[in-house]
Amino acid sequence: MNVVALSGGVGGARFLRGLVDVLPQRDVTVLANVGDDLEVLGLHISPDVDSILYALAGLADESRGWGRADETWHALEAVASLGGEAWFRVGDRDLGLHLVRTQALRAGEPLSAVTSRIAAALGLELRVLPATDDELRTWLVTPAGTFAFQDWFVARGHRDDVDAVRFVGADTASPAPGVLEALDAAELIVIAPSNPYVSIGPILAVGAIRAALEQRRVPCVAVSPLVGGRAVKGPADRMLRRLAGGTSPRHVASCYEGLIDALVVDEADAHDLDGLAVRAVVTQTLMRDAEARRRLAETAVAA
Ligand code: GDP
Ligand code: CA
Repeated sequence: MNVVALSGGVGGARFLRGLVDVLPQRDVTVLANVGDDLEVLGLHISPDVDSILYALAGLADESRGWGRADETWHALEAVASLGGEAWFRVGDRDLGLHLVRTQALRAGEPLSAVTSRIAAALGLELRVLPATDDELRTWLVTPAGTFAFQDWFVARGHRDDVDAVRFVGADTASPAPGVLEALDAAELIVIAPSNPYVSIGPILAVGAIRAALEQRRVPCVAVSPLVGGRAVKGPADRMLRRLAGGTSPRHVASCYEGLIDALVVDEADAHDLDGLAVRAVVTQTLMRDAEARRRLAETAVAA
């Protein structure tokens, strides 16, 4: 079965590990968020793409929740000691990937092309496509001001409430090569349990991708990132409360109006399915280990 999955970083990557346990990797195409991308120390970093690559290649640090396992920080320590830009944590091994990507981009290679080269070098057979090769950046409007994504998320620890999310560049961004073809060939579309506003939102901000989902002829299933009305990690619950008016399944589904046919929700949220306009699939959604990841992916695919 051909599946296209829309994904952010950590939550999405966890789910994708389950998905490639139930489907052959070559049947899976991932559309990854690039709204978080940034330049640090002259390097182009694509945090969500990298989380996906590292997780699927078995290189991720699972206890820290981001970056590579067995990481060291000598380069960053040297940067800091020289008064350089050290607020965004880049480990030595991680740096290797950013160097390869940045060199390729400078030489004119599109992000999608260098991403697929890196994925292949890591031994992956699934396709990881950035939603777009064009510059698309997420900005947050907050009571304290308007911030670029990583200034808000990392530098300010996402402490500011969000009044609005803006996707700069989305108006003119085209889907990366292969994205629309993958959606056209999909037998199932899955939206991973990622943050609807800042992980999936930027992907859907590419007009042609949203249109392809609106006009789909195959089912689209989203997996809620909330368990008992709370984000497992990060600001998704706070954002839903402020921007959608609540954290029940109907509020999650409201982020995907017209785009999904079913929502996978946790048992802890099953008491409050009122007003949910799409089919609910109730299961345990906490991906605490490989077996839980696999079961969740299996449920989403069967839905
Ligand atoms: P980011 O780009 O690294 O922030 O990652 P994502 O947006 O892909 O994932 C963040 C979301 O994943 C958060 O809203 C979490 O609530 C959700 N998440 C993380 N782990 C789990 C899990 O085990 N189960 C579910 N349902 N959601 C999860
Ligand atoms: Ca992200």
